[in-house]
Parts: sequence; C-alpha cells; structure tokens
Amino acid sequence: MLNKKTIQDLDVAGKRVLVRVDFNVPQHEDGRVKDDRRIRAALPTIQYLRDRGARTILVSHLGRPKGSPEDAVKYSLRPVAEKLSELLGVMVPLVPDCIGPQADAAVSLMKPGDVVLLENVRFHPEETKNDPEFASKLASLAEVYINDAFGTAHRANASTEGVAHYLVSGVGFLMQKELEYLGSVLAEPKRPFVAILGGAKVSSKIGVVNNLLDKVDRLIIGGGMAYTFLKAQGKEIGKSLLDAESLDYCRDVLQRAGDKILLPVDVVVADGNPFDKGADGLATRVVSVDEIPADWEGVDIGPATREVFAKAVVGAGTVVWNGPMGIFEFPQFAVGTRAMAEALAQSGATTIVGGGDSAAAVDELGYADRITHISTGGGASLELLEGKEFPGVVALTDK
Ligand code: AMP
Repeated sequence: MLNKKTIQDLDVAGKRVLVRVDFNVPQHEDGRVKDDRRIRAALPTIQYLRDRGARTILVSHLGRPKGSPEDAVKYSLRPVAEKLSELLGVMVPLVPDCIGPQADAAVSLMKPGDVVLLENVRFHPEETKNDPEFASKLASLAEVYINDAFGTAHRANASTEGVAHYLVSGVGFLMQKELEYLGSVLAEPKRPFVAILGGAKVSSKIGVVNNLLDKVDRLIIGGGMAYTFLKAQGKEIGKSLLDAESLDYCRDVLQRAGDKILLPVDVVVADGNPFDKGADGLATRVVSVDEIPADWEGVDIGPATREVFAKAVVGAGTVVWNGPMGIFEFPQFAVGTRAMAEALAQSGATTIVGGGDSAAAVDELGYADRITHISTGGGASLELLEGKEFPGVVALTDK
C-alpha cells in the first residue's frame, strides 16, 4: 500500500497548488501536439483541483533543451498549453518563466479555479541538477505540491523531488493509479501471474527479470531479446539481434527459471534488416528456432509461438507485458505484437501494459479499452517492475 499522502488527503480548497505533470509529449514538425495521452492522463487531477477552487500551477519539462535561442522555441510548452486549453474547455495561459518575477506576477493574479502552465522547467539547468535554491523558488509559488508526473518520477530533479522538501505534498490521481497497478498489484498478484517481456536489449531488462523471476508463475520472452536466450541455449541465431555481453546472464536465468520460462519455438526471419532497406524488399520465411539460417535475421515471433504464448495467458490472474514481440514498426512484423495485445485483451486477467512501445502498440491496435492498465511511462514503468522506489515519491509527505 502507498504510504504517501494522496491529493484527497490534502486540504487544497482555495489553495495555490503546484502540480508537477509530465507533458513531455510527442510533437509534429510544426510543434503541434501529436499524441495527447499524457495531457489527458493529467486531467482528473486538474479537474479535481478546479472543482475545489484551488489555483492550479502546472509545471513540466519538454525534451532536453540545451539553451540555444532555437531551443527556446522548439521546446516551448506553448502548443501544450493550447492543447490543454482545448481539452479542459478553459483558457490555460502559458507563463513565460517558471520562477522569478513573471511567475510571481502570474500566480498573484490567479483566481479560484484558475489553471496556468509554467514554461518548460528544463530551460533552467538547475532543474536536472536538483538545485535546492531553484527548488525553493519553485516551491515559493505555492502552498501545496502534488506530483502527478509518473513518467518522470524516477528522476530526482528539482521539480520532481527537491520541491517536495519545502511544501506539504502528495501524489495526484495518475501517479496513484500507476503506483497501485505497477507496485501494489505486483506485490500481491492474482495468480497465475504471467510476465511477458520483449523489445530489443536484454541488458536493459536485467533488473526487471531479476525482480520478476521469483514472483511470476510464467516468464514469456519474445522480441529481439529472445535471440540472446536462444543463443545461450546453444542455438544458431543467424544475424538476429545478439546482446553478447548478456549471454552468461541469460544462461544463468535459464537455469534459475527452469520450466517457468517460455521462449519462441518458431520465428519469422528476413534476409535483411527492415530499418536498413525497408520491409517491402525483404524475403521472409517462418522457421523453427532450431533452423535459423546463417544470413537471416529474426524479425517477429512465428505462428506456433503466437499460439503457445497466447495459451499461456489464458486463465491467468495477472499479466504484465513490456516490450514488442518483433520489429513492430513495420506492419509486416507487428503480427506477433498484435497477437499478444489480442491475447491480453481476451484473457479476463488483470492486464498491465508497461509504457513505451507496447503501450503504443496496444493503443494503435485498438485494444486499449480492454486492458486493465496501460502505463503512461516507459522508463518509469520499467523501474517499478524492477522493484525500485521513485525519489519523486519517497520525498512526498508520509500518510
Ligand atoms: P525496447 O525499447 O527494449 O522495448 O525495444 C523496442 C524495440 O525493440 C523496437 O524498436 C523493436 O523494433 C525492437 N525489436 C523487437 N523485436 C526485435 C527483433 N526481433 N529484432 C530487432 N529488434 C527488435
């Protein structure tokens, strides 16, 4: 159980409330917001505060600005303020600086129920250094601090961690939901508990495998990372993705996991990499994992594997999935990823999809409504699956 105050535990009525949100959203070339999921995900907290007559001061980062004049335009939150105004149905002004006289003035003019968005907090290098003086200036704008920036809570920055030391504080609705699903549910999962991991590199998922291995009843490994496991079993993997440095680790996991682990039994191989020459010009074949040809590369799980993996999800109590089953950016090689999304949607289990590629895949494929929880944070959800605590949550006021 979460031992931190939540927004509902705090007296916010009429107060100035600083809310760290994660509006680091993908944009079009011209700056327009391309994917507003993270903005929509923050609406329950903003609406709750408006309903109580709070003055809501939103703070977020966008990208990694380096300080050039071009970056001041490229990484401005202006398009986000416009999108948020549209979604909320009220005008949300963008305050040109997140601290200093302009911020003070804007906040002093706020009326109960008003919402403002402060300009990109990373325009100040002190943000990522978690500079205490900068954090205290941010804190001076408000009386209460709410952290609802799940996607950034694994970083100890001034607006995600430092600021919490100066104000009474708690988690917003989004953060609470993410922590409940990726934290508490995993602590006491309904069984059988199945984890599905995919994506590119074994090395980036070692912490996750270590944390989940003892907790799960089944560990399914697909996608690019499966090939290093197949190689560790002594199989030929041709030109498929190999994370050579993780080979010993994979041998060790295979031994520890015994028959808990499920690997592909067949794969789709191509005579080249789609990122090099596009997918259309490639020849493809379905082969058993014992017969991967020397010059070919595994790009998706095969039909028999789709069936084995889908069957393993039927009757599960809890399923957690992170990472695509193939090079899903190309529709030809998204078949395995799509099949897993469908298997989860039909499973009847509590289904949790970690952020990043698998969350995007579930959304694009239209299965979002049938998944219990889709995380809004890629790196952050992985860190929770690793069992880590977030500095941005640890610093909040205890219950
Ligand atoms: P990750 O960020 O580790 O979750 O990895 C996501 C990436 O893994 C996506 O860009 C996929 O294209 C890639 N991926 C999935 N399956 C494979 C594969 N068989 N070979 C190479 N890359 C893959």
